[in-house]
Amino acid sequence: MFELLNKQEISLLKEVLSRKNNIVICAHKSPDGDAIGSTLAWKNFLEQHGKQNVKVCYPDAAPDFLHWLPGFNDTLRYDKQAVLMKEAFNKSDLVFYLDFGQSSRTDEMQAILESCQAPIILIDHHLHPQGNYLIKASFTHLSSTSEIIFNLICQLGGYEAMTKACAECIYCGMMTDTGGFTYNSNRPEIFTIISMLLQKGIDKDEIYNKVFHNYSEQALRLRSHIILNKMNYIENLHASYFTVTKGDLQRFRFTKGDLEGVVNIPQLIKGLKISISLREDTEKSNLVLVSLRSSNGFHCQPMATKFFNGGGHADAAGGKLHCSIEEAEQITIKALLFYKDELQNP
Ligand code: 5GP
Ligand code: MN
Repeated sequence: MFELLNKQEISLLKEVLSRKNNIVICAHKSPDGDAIGSTLAWKNFLEQHGKQNVKVCYPDAAPDFLHWLPGFNDTLRYDKQAVLMKEAFNKSDLVFYLDFGQSSRTDEMQAILESCQAPIILIDHHLHPQGNYLIKASFTHLSSTSEIIFNLICQLGGYEAMTKACAECIYCGMMTDTGGFTYNSNRPEIFTIISMLLQKGIDKDEIYNKVFHNYSEQALRLRSHIILNKMNYIENLHASYFTVTKGDLQRFRFTKGDLEGVVNIPQLIKGLKISISLREDTEKSNLVLVSLRSSNGFHCQPMATKFFNGGGHADAAGGKLHCSIEEAEQITIKALLFYKDELQNP
């Protein structure tokens, strides 16, 4: 614990941090609790250690239930602040990629990332990261990028001085990426970290409330509509999938984040192995956003790569399809049948 990087890597990290001052930290499109939590925690730590020009950059909006996180108001969004973001990248002498391992995960921001000349440090927990990095802090067995950030801060000797704000960001990231510590969270170290974060004065119950008890009435009705009217259940394959059209989204006045975690709900069915969500993009036509969750011994990450142009973690993955929602449904059925031998077994 707290010794993630080897001696050479940690001294290289210390050395670059001592020399570089214009720092950009970026995360993936549709940033989630871990993307926002880890980037803001890292910024908080760097600023506390004298870095005055640290910019946090996201491709697009974060859901409302994350806007309370300390430091969120100072972040940049590419879809709204492209000019400011280009300036930040042009000026930067060090870039951190947090919570993604392929620049394509940043969508429209990808071109800026790829033309930037500054050295890049990767801090991530997704499977199969790609690209060349000055330091590659890729730890796929850890719960979250936020957990890696906690370990790095400790390894750099920063625990004593860690602020409550930084601890809140880390806790939020670890909590959201493990569904409130209900999956991918059996390692005892996780609970040692939670204890250390509590010692910084965080209120974990309040953080849970702010993040998970934050639906609008319409959002709750949209979720109910999906389960009641849209969910398909294929009993012999222990599989479930649903489609969400633009019409569904408009009817319930969808805003970003309203469907967060809805793909997990079918997993409440006893023995379910895979749950797939297919959602039409609200802006682009012929774009379907895909989320996959697996359990009971089946792993959805290979399916996300093979059928849905994506990837992620063994049991939580995502991707996208450039086609109509009807075609996406056909691809999903094909994908389920491709794995039918594995899925059929109880
Ligand atoms: P979600 O379903 O919550 O959007 O994503 C589940 C997990 O898969 C997250 O860890 C997310 O970062 C990852 N993921 C989502 N979409 C993609 C994708 O297109 N490519 C890869 N490699 N990972 C993805
Ligand atoms: Mn993550």
